[in-house]
Amino acid sequence: MVHEELLARLNEAGYKNWLKAGYCLLRVKEGLCEFMDQEMRTFHKTVIKNNTALQRGQTCRYNCRPKANQFQSACPVCDEWRNEILRHHTKPYGIINWGNCKPWLWPTEPWELAKAFMPRGHADKYRAEQCDAAALLNVLHLCDHFHFINQALVTQVIHCRNELMHSCEMQVSDQWMGRFQKSLQELIRHLHHIPAMNAASQQIHEMLSVDLSLNFPGVDSVDGEDTEEVEIESLSQWETELLRESIKEQLDNDEHEGRPVDLKKLQTLHRFLRGHKDLEKQFRTELDSIEVLEEQMQKSFNKER
Ligand SMILES: [Zn+2]
Repeated sequence: MVHEELLARLNEAGYKNWLKAGYCLLRVKEGLCEFMDQEMRTFHKTVIKNNTALQRGQTCRYNCRPKANQFQSACPVCDEWRNEILRHHTKPYGIINWGNCKPWLWPTEPWELAKAFMPRGHADKYRAEQCDAAALLNVLHLCDHFHFINQALVTQVIHCRNELMHSCEMQVSDQWMGRFQKSLQELIRHLHHIPAMNAASQQIHEMLSVDLSLNFPGVDSVDGEDTEEVEIESLSQWETELLRESIKEQLDNDEHEGRPVDLKKLQTLHRFLRGHKDLEKQFRTELDSIEVLEEQMQKSFNKER
């Protein structure tokens, strides 16, 4: 497959930075997966061990379900689990995305507990591997089981990640990259006891030191076109993954927070996708949503005038 448009994009410095930073976050997520799954199993066991009511091993028999993001009327079993989540939440008075949770699974599925500490939109994720870096970092930050982790280092990376994913031009400066790299390295160094994190660290180091428009990481020397083809194919795949995550979040977030969607940002995002033939085709559904939103906003803007 020819990737002419992607190769052209790799000549734009800001976009190349955006892509590299996104790649690093994908590796952070991979580095954390096994550790998170393991720790959530331990956390689940600990919660049960310290709560005599939960030790009876009862499950919900009343079909308790969160309504949108609220979880109010609950049976005694679900209520007990909900209290435990609040007890272990570092910000129990902040927004808790109950809509992520399937309460009837709390007694048996450790990952169902993790979801109460994540941004919304994770209802159908059943293990760490299916979640993105932001979700895992939020669990590290919001669940007090991870009190042994330096929270300042985690929030630093969450902050960078949000800036990256909310950039409607999909561009970040070299200066931003410097700050991002520093935050990432500090967190990775702090988590060096996680073996998979060390592997991720190596890949991140390679990515940050390579010039993507000339080379593809993971290949010492490009022997022939075949290797190059494989690399550009995988680059194209994670580009799609990252763009999807960013567009989804930019469209969802505004709606969710009740903030008026920023028309200018939306138009920038629109222009970006339209400006690349391959992306325009690939993100047709997203473009449709953007166009509908823009039209709605334009209408209400005209009414106000
Ligand atoms: Zn229940």
